Amino acid sequence: KESGARKFQRQHMDPDSNPSNNSTYCNQMMRRRKMTEGRCKPVNTFVHEPLVDVQAICLQGNITCKNGHSNCHKSSSSMHITECRLTNGSRYPNCAYHTNQKEKQIIVACEGNPYVPVHFDASV
Ligand code: ADP
Repeated sequence: KESGARKFQRQHMDPDSNPSNNSTYCNQMMRRRKMTEGRCKPVNTFVHEPLVDVQAICLQGNITCKNGHSNCHKSSSSMHITECRLTNGSRYPNCAYHTNQKEKQIIVACEGNPYVPVHFDASV
């Protein structure tokens, strides 16, 4: 079975692609990373930074996550990200997304030993 750490990498890591001005990025990537199977995942963020830099966020101080748990951590520096948001008219199985590039600090939830990212909570 896919581990939480692997799932995070599949859903949120894209270190080798530039946050390019490619309006089809989310349409392609949401499908390629299997977030359009069974339903269209409504929102998802990809991070264009080295995996080690994202894993290091887990070493930053704890903050409270959206769900009230305290295993969240905020990156000290801003990161290149792409936000994918389902378009209003989009209907499964035709998942169509808006693509938005940003440079923001990110908040991830971490778990396990090694203590690594398993959930993308927010960008601020
Ligand atoms: P994401 O939330 O990164 O878009 P998923 O919802 O598919 O992706 O998976 C998140 C996973 O992280 C779930 O298995 C959930 O149990 C786990 N998790 C661990 N800590 C938290 C937390 N504080 N908030 C939300 N999910 C968390």
